[in-house]
Amino acid sequence: MRSFQQIPELRTHLNALREEQLVIGFVPTMGALHDGHIALIRRAVTECDRTVVSIFVNPIQFGPGEDFDRYPRDLAQDSRICQEEGVDALFVPAVGEMFPSADGDGPAESPTRVHVPALEDILEGAARPGHLSGVTTICAKLFNIVQPRRAYFGQKDYQQLIAIQRMVADLCMPITVVPVATVREPDGLALSSRNVYLSPEERPRAVALSAALKEGERLYAAGERNADTLREAVRDVLVRAGLSAIEYIEVADPRTMVRLNHIDDDAVLLAAVRIGALRLIDNVLLGITLNQHLRRL
Ligand code: AMP
Repeated sequence: MRSFQQIPELRTHLNALREEQLVIGFVPTMGALHDGHIALIRRAVTECDRTVVSIFVNPIQFGPGEDFDRYPRDLAQDSRICQEEGVDALFVPAVGEMFPSADGDGPAESPTRVHVPALEDILEGAARPGHLSGVTTICAKLFNIVQPRRAYFGQKDYQQLIAIQRMVADLCMPITVVPVATVREPDGLALSSRNVYLSPEERPRAVALSAALKEGERLYAAGERNADTLREAVRDVLVRAGLSAIEYIEVADPRTMVRLNHIDDDAVLLAAVRIGALRLIDNVLLGITLNQHLRRL
């Protein structure tokens, strides 16, 4: 595995691979890799000739007062994991490499931004202003640098996945976006680099988020199609478990994320809660699998 900090060197390496007609797969991450990231990497390594992983804690997707400075970072361990998983190239740019304006301690900024307006002011977009365009902008930049044939994203960050799929389709980027199912702890908690922030007291309570969504799944399987009823059932489980700092519980169209009152066909059930200093997000698909989702988008 080769490691790159500079864009031109990575480009030279990848151009040579493309000349050999090799299919490049790409897994963008913010590091502190866990089994969720590893599932994406394994899928890419299986499906592509060469896999590129980027590790970049992207300042423009963090809001003021969010955890950019204390986001977990462990490059030595991440490199070991990538090496073991058969990654071809690790891209670890400094902030100034991705945002030259940040050289000399200026704030990181991108004078050009990519927006997906329909998704930016709802759910995660409403809770974290600027976050979603920070994600789409950095992914557009990384896609232009790496020029992958396939790029892998987790279902865990569902709205991000949909925004990236929208961006790739609308801007005619020649990339297949591959969604990968959420990897969970044995008790159901979705893996996240930020889970290390959970205190021993908070950790058992955190499981209620996935349990609440499971209750929604159970009701849907039993025939419930009223979105209010599903939202209320999820809320009940959360409140009973002491997770009452609820940011949103939503039932939405799984392709557009438009809010649904009634589920005619399929849906995505999403929730975000606060627990201590941490925000947890999670989601489940109702009446549609991730593979069908990929085909029907
Ligand atoms: P991050 O490093 O948090 O920006 O995540 C990088 C990629 O890994 C994104 O596509 C995430 O959706 C994905 N990811 C994060 N956690 C999980 C998980 N528990 N299961 C599957 N994919 C995940």
